[in-house]
Amino acid sequence: MLHVEGLCAGYHRLQILHEVGLRVGAGEIVAVVGGNGAGKTTTLKAIAGLLAPTSGTITFDGEPATGVRPSELVRRGLVLVPEDRALFGPLTVAENLRMGGWTRGRQPLEEDLEQVFELFPILAERRRQPAETLSGGQQQMLAIGRAMMARPRLLMLDEPSTGLSPKLTWAVLEAVQRIRERGVAVLLVEQNAAHALGIADRAYVLESGSIVLTGQGRELVRDDRVRAAYLGL
Ligand code: ATP
Repeated sequence: MLHVEGLCAGYHRLQILHEVGLRVGAGEIVAVVGGNGAGKTTTLKAIAGLLAPTSGTITFDGEPATGVRPSELVRRGLVLVPEDRALFGPLTVAENLRMGGWTRGRQPLEEDLEQVFELFPILAERRRQPAETLSGGQQQMLAIGRAMMARPRLLMLDEPSTGLSPKLTWAVLEAVQRIRERGVAVLLVEQNAAHALGIADRAYVLESGSIVLTGQGRELVRDDRVRAAYLGL
């Protein structure tokens, strides 16, 4: 579904990503784990069309996705939930969710709203409340819910556990698993390797802008290098 090959990207003259290669198959949960500043966000930005790569190729569903406008990629089903969540604070939960469906033009959004409320019942309870009054965990749920309104085929999540307690992190990751059960593939970027590897089918370890290790999620949890560097074991 998503193929990234030889991806190089950076900011100004500073190269951050060095020949990053990864793939996500239909219905898979794939994690990219790595420490602070490893280039995880940069990787997602390049895939989402928010940062022009200096070289390399990105294909989505067999079609080139490099040099394509971000809104066009959203229409094709490639949707990013950014780390800062980028919610519209003064707007209500329901209004934020409707904004997520803007690329779908005039199609009715009621059914999609119901599906998001089924995934996150707390959002239904809070539907008339401004987004800025939600707790951190609820805001993350809203950011994911808003992305779901675009009907993604591949959902990219940038550090959804940021600022959340372990309990809320698991609640969010449990929802990610249910999203996958709906047939949506997930690319999950996390500094918190224990959480991400716990739900990932496959994972990549990113260090200083290069992929240094790849394997099944449960294999990597047992890998001594991963345990020492990312799990503190
Ligand atoms: P974190 O866990 O801190 O979010 P990350 O793995 O997502 O880390 P990136 O945000 O991709 O890492 O950053 C990779 C490197 O790029 C870092 O050294 C960072 O300082 C640098 N960087 C990020 N954004 C910019 C920018 N807009 N301009 C210049 N350098 C940047």
